[in-house]
Amino acid sequence: MGTVTLDNLRKEFDNGQIVAVDDVSLDVADGEFITVVGPSGCGKSTTLRMLAGLEQPTSGRISIGDEDVTNVHARKRDVAMVFQNYALYPHKTVRQNMAFGLRMSTDLSKDERHERVRETAEMMGIEDLLDDRPNELSGGQKQRVALGRAIVREPDVFLFDEPLSNLDAKLRTTMRTEIQRLQNDLATTSIYVTHDQEEAMTMGDRIVILKDGKLQQVGAPKEVYQNPANAFVGGFVGSPSMNFIEVHASVSGNSIRLEDQSGRFDYRLDGADYPSISDGDRLSFGIRPEDVYVADAGNGIETTVEVIEPIGSDNYLYLDLAPDFIARVDSSIEPEPDDTVAITFDESDIHLFDGSTGESLA
Ligand code: ATP
Repeated sequence: MGTVTLDNLRKEFDNGQIVAVDDVSLDVADGEFITVVGPSGCGKSTTLRMLAGLEQPTSGRISIGDEDVTNVHARKRDVAMVFQNYALYPHKTVRQNMAFGLRMSTDLSKDERHERVRETAEMMGIEDLLDDRPNELSGGQKQRVALGRAIVREPDVFLFDEPLSNLDAKLRTTMRTEIQRLQNDLATTSIYVTHDQEEAMTMGDRIVILKDGKLQQVGAPKEVYQNPANAFVGGFVGSPSMNFIEVHASVSGNSIRLEDQSGRFDYRLDGADYPSISDGDRLSFGIRPEDVYVADAGNGIETTVEVIEPIGSDNYLYLDLAPDFIARVDSSIEPEPDDTVAITFDESDIHLFDGSTGESLA
């Protein structure tokens, strides 16, 4: 069984000066594809390296299936890792690279090993490369071999550490689909680390978001996108990013008025929907670019267009309401720079976060 459980997993470096992974707990189901994402230094690689047995946790527990593997040597764990830099042996052929891990981790006969390598190479479309050495291969071919080497072992769990980062954009998209297809066919539990939120969102059954070693949110991509647990997650997933405006609340009867410091942003909410908001609260108002609508003059919040950026089907309007405030509108909406436009939002699309903790008020 390829279930994976992290229980208060912690990793400190430099005598506790650096907390790379800060008490992370996570349950991964058998056959699930989990993506782990976060900005540079958030602890993604360290988490994966602890799972692989390449780094010893400071405290906490790691289980694979029913077994507590926290103190089990890397070679004795039934996991296969795929690295960003491929980590192929340069002097071995593709065939030898693929067979090597098998020799170390199974007691198959030589013939059985070669048969398994051949089958896997066929599945990966690399059977013609079996006698080549890594320096004769392109980046995409190397990564295919690295994947093949992981697959041939038939492990309980695949661990991917930014495997596509060294490939160009087009190949990255192709390989993304291919990894998903393979994972679907093999139904092997996979934990996939990336700094690319789009990769994480498109590939994962669930996505794990880390920041400063702390787990911020775990959920299906759509759920995380629609209901971010905090402002960090709201801003991290989605491109272009969620727009934020710092506001204060004035509560009067059943109505809540949100205004920014300049007074240009002025929005009213139904107080019944937000019982936790009190008069004078400082909040962060979040709205995604695609949820900003351009309305007729006088029917919304007035703002000036700074830049208009056509992306084909849509236009991005940079508005002077707040720094980098973007409205993603239909390409038929084409104001000129310096034009004044009015914008509106659906109340169901807005996100409100506590002004100091960043926690969602939803
Ligand atoms: P990136 O996307 O840049 O690879 P990451 O999210 O994978 O980042 P980690 O590599 O896990 O982050 O690092 C988390 C933190 O731990 C960082 O502050 C990093 O500098 C620190 N760190 C990682 N390995 C060590 C080490 N061997 N010694 C000291 N500090 C380390």
